[in-house]
Amino acid sequence: MSIADNIKSLKNETDPIKVRLVAVSKTKTVEEIKEAYDAGQRLFGENMVQELVDKHEQLPKDIKWHLIGHLQTNKVKYIVPFISMIQSVDSLKLLQEIDKHAQKNNLTIDCLLQVYIADEETKYGLGFDEAIELLRSDEYTGLSHVRIRGLMGIATNTDSEKQIKDEFYELKTFFDGIKQSYFRQDPSFDTLSMGMSSDYKIAIEQGSTMVRLGGTVFGQRVIKHWKNN
Ligand SMILES: *Cc1c(COP(=O)(O)O)cnc(C)c1O
Repeated sequence: MSIADNIKSLKNETDPIKVRLVAVSKTKTVEEIKEAYDAGQRLFGENMVQELVDKHEQLPKDIKWHLIGHLQTNKVKYIVPFISMIQSVDSLKLLQEIDKHAQKNNLTIDCLLQVYIADEETKYGLGFDEAIELLRSDEYTGLSHVRIRGLMGIATNTDSEKQIKDEFYELKTFFDGIKQSYFRQDPSFDTLSMGMSSDYKIAIEQGSTMVRLGGTVFGQRVIKHWKNN
């Protein structure tokens, strides 16, 4: 299957149920991204700032870029001018920095709070309590140039479907609670980003509105230049 075929079949799967597809293009070449773009894909996710900036410069300007990896506060300024969404907000300090640069650029930046749901120590994100604490803080309510659109989470990398399902269920339940408590009057709080190549079908069953797929879109890129297509 070519990248274009993958995009088409994924769109057939996700468009009818209104789940948005983020094509995760980290480590992929500009040519590969262009192939997905030519197949109609406009939403791409990257996890490294420098790589994202380089690709933004080289590729068509109607691409919507999402940052999906950990963001250091000192790098916020490089992406704010063009970023479509920052999915990986994991501290109030980071959100304040985004707000500061958004204000300088006269922009409002869409963000997701990354919430920690996995049973692994390596993953970034806010705990449930920390996310609530952030939303309740005066510092947050004082911010005027960021808009929290929802939550993002990464499930544990495990073969246990039950565990993955439970983690996504927990995040969906938390999302619904947060929406009720803090965004009841705000229809733009509408995004629950969960699901990667290995677990996106489970995520969709559990109420995901946005999946982030790398391998499923681009293939596992091994010795690519040996292929004929
Ligand atoms: C790499 C990455 C993805 C995509 O992973 P695949 O397994 O290739 O689909 C999704 N989300 C985040 C945060 C990632 O870093």
